[in-house]
This record gives sequence, structure tokens and C-alpha cells, in this order.
Amino acid sequence: MSSLEPLSAPVSAARAAALAEAHRLAGQVLVGGQLQPPPSGRTFAVENPADETIIAHAARCEARDVGWAVEAAHRAYPAWSRRPARERGELLHRAADRLEQEAEPLARLLALETGNALATQSRPEVAGAIELLRFFAGLWSELKGRTIPWDPNTLAYVRREPLGVVGAIIPWNAPLTLLCVKLGPALVAGNTLVVKGAEQAPLTVIRTAEILNEVLPAGVVNAISGFGEEAGKPLAEHPLVRKVSFTGSVPVGRQILRYVAEKLCPVTLELGGKSPNIVMDDADLDKAVPGLIAGMRFTRQGQSCSAGTRIYLHDRIYDQVVARTVEALEQLKIGDPLDEATQMGAIISREQFERVKAYVDMARATPGARIVCGGSPPPGLDRGYFYTPTLIEGIPHASPVCTDEIFGPVALLYRFRDFDEALALANDTQYGLAGALWTRDLAKALAFAEKLQAGFVQVNQYAGPRAGLPYGGYKMSGLGREYSLESMLEHFTATKTVIVNYAT
Ligand code: ADP
Ligand code: MG
Repeated sequence: MSSLEPLSAPVSAARAAALAEAHRLAGQVLVGGQLQPPPSGRTFAVENPADETIIAHAARCEARDVGWAVEAAHRAYPAWSRRPARERGELLHRAADRLEQEAEPLARLLALETGNALATQSRPEVAGAIELLRFFAGLWSELKGRTIPWDPNTLAYVRREPLGVVGAIIPWNAPLTLLCVKLGPALVAGNTLVVKGAEQAPLTVIRTAEILNEVLPAGVVNAISGFGEEAGKPLAEHPLVRKVSFTGSVPVGRQILRYVAEKLCPVTLELGGKSPNIVMDDADLDKAVPGLIAGMRFTRQGQSCSAGTRIYLHDRIYDQVVARTVEALEQLKIGDPLDEATQMGAIISREQFERVKAYVDMARATPGARIVCGGSPPPGLDRGYFYTPTLIEGIPHASPVCTDEIFGPVALLYRFRDFDEALALANDTQYGLAGALWTRDLAKALAFAEKLQAGFVQVNQYAGPRAGLPYGGYKMSGLGREYSLESMLEHFTATKTVIVNYAT
């Protein structure tokens, strides 16, 4: 299950190349068109979660550095916003081309700092980010207003205008995707951007901004690094930041709303989830079993907000599905993220690793609960934050193991007897991000789609968000939608109504 073979030559070459890149980026941010250290010049250590070594010291921005970056974005705004949208779209296309040329080194750097396996996660993430950029680049032609027939001798029309500087704050689990999902719509609409990457994975974000900056005018994209309170808070609060787009945890999402309350600027929040994945007794199990594993995002160590972490199985198929799922999970190869054979890498940090262990310990101490598989680090991998795919049954719905987002490779199993019971259990959560039902019964499929309180619902599949499909949460999972045309228009532009009276 785990791999402890000595490093093969390609793996060590890939690691050396990624490390050299990390060293080059050490202490640097991309602001005003240049890779440079921020004014404060402070740094913090970035760890490789797969071996617990320090790969580089990243720039530790504080309020004055944030202000400096925001001002660079603000200076670039007038020219960028006045540029014809088709030119912005064209430049974004060319930036995406550049990203494509750098895809492999970027994927390696991403794998190095996140612990996400190159083959199953980091490489596909780079490809998905390029797809997102291209999608948003192509939306330039949708940036248009309308006219409204009004009084005689008047011309009434609605203009669509960008907002100004966008502040983006992103987490570590999919840094490149989440950068592009905010950068793409912000820039095509004519805004400029300051993004703060997560302290656990800051380097790929800086490097990506550096690549995009080769094509984009200086100051249009700015990327900084640092901690939440020190750098994220001043970014959200900055008076020149006219839109905040945040992806992360619920408590910080709430904080972001408080930060912007004074200046009343629009906010998009993409927060956590504890999503249900339900298998009916008439489901095609050959599809449902891999669907449970894919839905859990085990190849990303379960570190996905849309992960299907609450698995509900019909009584008649429960034992069979559990047995088949466990068997498949035991085949998953855990190991060095840079090894092509690895399917599951490392958890992002010691903090997250300890958090996962604490929830599993809580489960172990719960009367009636049972660890069905996993529940420990894999044997043989004693450095790095590796953890085996874990399935647990018998956890009460009121337990924190069920109510909290664990954000690790831990899924809960529940048995149900009929559809209504499963639906009620599925909705029994503070979250509402995603969910899926596996069935051949069209009536149940449509009833589920109607009644699940979540923003991203699937039947007979459990895929991730993709360019063109609006994505976002109900309930505590967030505010606003991303990934779509409407989200670009609604969240990154404002409309202005103009009435010209030409009677005189
Ligand atoms: P997690 O706990 O999973 O890392 P967070 O919501 O804490 O998720 O972090 C997501 C992003 O929000 C990161 O970039 C982090 O630095 C930032 N962040 C954390 N706390 C704050 C805060 N108080 N204000 C602004 N940004 C924050
Ligand atoms: Mg946090």
C-alpha cells in the first residue's frame, strides 16, 4: 500500500528542479510587474509535507506590504479597465498559453509544496487551471450593457463596469485552481488583482503570477504571501480593495464579512462542506463504488471542500459496497508525491495531520463506532504527513466527527432503509456545498435534485467543479457562485444606469 523504495532517478531530478525553483522564489512576491521582496522583508518557512523538510522561506507580508501591493494594482487599474474587453481576453489567452508551456515545472512545484501527487492531482490541477483561464478569457464578448426603451427623446442604457482592485484570499488545497477561478473573471472584466496565497502553499501562486505577468501589463496581477491575520486581514480591509473573493474556512469567511462591513464592498465566500454521497439499492454499483472513492477526493487526501464525506448506503447493498470500497482503497498507492506511481500524497501540514488524527481518535472513543479501514498512517512512511484512506461507521449524526469538516481522508458510512430517510440525513448538516445520489430511478433522482439543500448536485457521478458550471454553497457553505459566466458578471462588475434626455 505504501512505497518506501529508494528514490528513482527521475523522482530525485524532479525534486531537485522544484527545489531550485522554490529557492529562486524565496522571499519574493510579484508586485507591480516585478518579482521582488516586499518592503518589510520578513519571511516564514514553507515545509514539504511529504518529508517535513523546509523547502524555502517565503515572504511574510504585513499591512504595509499589502498596502504597497494594493497601490500597485490600483495604479494599473485605469489603463486595464479602459482597455477593450477583447484585448483583455486576448491577453488572458496568451497568458494561458504561457502557463501551458510551464505546466510541468509548475505541477512539480505544486506537488512539492502541497504534497499532492503529481500524477493524480498536481498535473491535472495545472491543466484545469489553464482550462479555467481560457474559459474566462473567452467571456470578454459577454461584457456588454443594454438599452431600455424609455421616455420619448431619451436614451436609457445600462453600462457594465469593473469594480476596481479585487482582493483574493485562497487556501492551500488547490492553490492554482482557486487562483485562476478568481483571477480569470476579475481580469477579463477589467479589474486588477492582489492575491494572497495560503501560508502552507505560497510558492506556486507567486510563480503563476510571475508567468502571467510576462504577458499582462505590470500591476494587473499581484501575488503576495503571508499569514491570515497579518496579510489577509489588511488585504480584505484595504479601502482601495473594492471586491473580496475568499475561499477557505467558515470562521474566516465570517471574519471577512466583518472586515468589509465598514466599506461595504461585495464579497464572495466559498467555504466548507460535509457533503452526502448516497447509494440506492438499484444503483449501478460498478460505477457507484469508484464514485464514492472519487467523490471523497482520496487522491487529494480528502482535502476538498466538495468531498463526499458522508456516505449513505441502502441497507440491501451496504455490506457489498463497503467490502468493494475497502478493497479498492487498499489498492491506492500512497507515497512520494513526485513519484509517477503515487496516487495519494501527503496531508498538507502537521496541524492538519494532527487534526485528522484527533477526529479519528474521537471516532475510536465513540461507543458503537468502528473504523472499517484506515485510521492510521501507512506503515513504512515515517516521515511526512501520510494517512491511509479511512472509513468509519456508527458515528452519531450529532458527533463533531459528523458535523465538522475534517478536511482529510476520512469518510463516514451510514445505513438507511428508504429514500426519504437518506434525504433527511443528507440535509441534516450546517453545510450545503455538494452532494450526489446513485440510482436508476428517475423520480428519486429528480426529487433528490430538488430537495437537497446544496449548490452542486449530481446524479450517478461525483465530479469536481469545472469551468462553465456555476459552483457555490447553500447554508454555511458560502455566498455567491464561481466558475461561470453569470458569476463573472454578477460578482466582478457593477451596472450603471444612464438616461440621456436629448429633447433639448
Ligand atoms: P484553513 O484553516 O483550512 O487553512 P483558512 O480559512 O484558515 O483555512 O485559510 C484560508 C485562507 O485564509 C489562507 O490564505 C489564510 O491565510 C487566510 N486567512 C486565515 N485567517 C484569516 C484572517 N483572519 N483574515 C484574512 N485571511 C485569513
Ligand atoms: Mg485556519
